[in-house]
Amino acid sequence: MPRKKTSKKPPKKTRTEYVPHIATGKAPPCHVDGCREPGEYKAPKSRDELHEYHWFCLGHIREHNQQWDYFAGLEPDDIEYFVKDAVTGHRPTWNRESQVRDQYFKLHDALYEFLTDSKRPAKPTPPLTAKLRKALATMDIEYPYTVKGLKVQYRAMVKKHHPDVNKGDKKSEELFKQITAAYHTLSEHIKSL
Ligand SMILES: [Zn+2]
Repeated sequence: MPRKKTSKKPPKKTRTEYVPHIATGKAPPCHVDGCREPGEYKAPKSRDELHEYHWFCLGHIREHNQQWDYFAGLEPDDIEYFVKDAVTGHRPTWNRESQVRDQYFKLHDALYEFLTDSKRPAKPTPPLTAKLRKALATMDIEYPYTVKGLKVQYRAMVKKHHPDVNKGDKKSEELFKQITAAYHTLSEHIKSL
């Protein structure tokens, strides 16, 4: 199919361009808290879940999409500053070489938090392996965790359970091994995200 000639600035989307992705009767409620409209339009949940969607009503999907206009014409440094400044939760470090899609979603998250003054609803917890769950329990931390949070917790637990501190207590020694293994598991996991 021949591509349509595109002008430099895409025309603003009109209502007719927003064709519902689902029949009205089958639409889930809009994802936005407190909105009672049917969520007839879908958007990827996050950069990690491009095939998982949140459903929005027309008003909210437009808001969702139009947020991107705010960044048009900004210098990369300014966008980077915005992302670092606005995001409340842990995000991977901004990476100039990262894929456009990644940047898109980082901006998306940052804007959402900035505009709604709230943390983006936590990403649904991916299915955790038994190994990960065990490691989380051993480290006594919850998912999702951050690299920093993990380190802080690890340090605290090492201080408490290091065999040297516990004068060769066997239980401490065993626990120390488990904690260290769990730390390793959780570090690797977060790096793989
Ligand atoms: Zn809505």
